[in-house]
Amino acid sequence: MDLNSGNLFELTNKLVYFFDLDGTIYLGDKLFKGVLQLIEVLRKKEKKFFFLSNNSSKSTEDYLKKLHLLNIKITRENLILSQHPTIDFLNRKGYKKIFLLGTQSLKNEFKDEGFELTEEDPEILVLAFDQELTYERLVKAAYILQKPDFPYIATHLDNRCPTEDGYIPDAGGIAALLYKATERMPKVFGKPNKEMLLFKLDELGISSKNAVMFGDRLYTDIKMGKEAGVTTCCVLSGEITMDMIKNSDFKPDFIINGIWELLNEFNRK
Ligand SMILES: [Mg+2]
Repeated sequence: MDLNSGNLFELTNKLVYFFDLDGTIYLGDKLFKGVLQLIEVLRKKEKKFFFLSNNSSKSTEDYLKKLHLLNIKITRENLILSQHPTIDFLNRKGYKKIFLLGTQSLKNEFKDEGFELTEEDPEILVLAFDQELTYERLVKAAYILQKPDFPYIATHLDNRCPTEDGYIPDAGGIAALLYKATERMPKVFGKPNKEMLLFKLDELGISSKNAVMFGDRLYTDIKMGKEAGVTTCCVLSGEITMDMIKNSDFKPDFIINGIWELLNEFNRK
């Protein structure tokens, strides 16, 4: 399989650009080359652009701080995180008391949104990328999930998260651990749920065919893009290898080595 490097031109004609973060824009704290220049180009050409992440280990505020430290000067409006559709669901359904398997940073966001976090009498269990997980908390979650039909949702279910030194267990890994004890799996809100893209396109009044999704994962980024009807472009700077693409049901429309190749294409025009 060849890289579609010959016809990247189509990618520069979109109105809306969705970018995955981990593995696409940066790896850990290391920004990929061309990112800052690409943002400048997108702004100059008046393109709409959004950064998406399933990684719910950070609150929206802490995400913005991290991005600002990397010199990515964007606001809340440019960010779509998996906790956003999750919180929207909790509000719509009227859940107030929550057992949150999540970091302190995420807990702060939930508290700011008006939820009560409790281990004693929760109405629902919310699983996030809890990088501060303890065995004691897992035990409590396992007991709660053994109550018949107890409501159980997750911000996302990525199995693993790429870091500079290798992969670490993500929310899907934690869910798998709980599944072994309880045989329960949660309802999921982040990628690959196509609503992550469609709610934004609806808001903008722009059709799917005028948008493109860039990401490094087939079973989240590319799957979601395909289901939402947007053009998909896979970057090889994160989790995906060409072999994985060959063997997957979710074939991207384009494949590039990294996001810098999109910048090069804009600069060629
Ligand atoms: Mg990624």
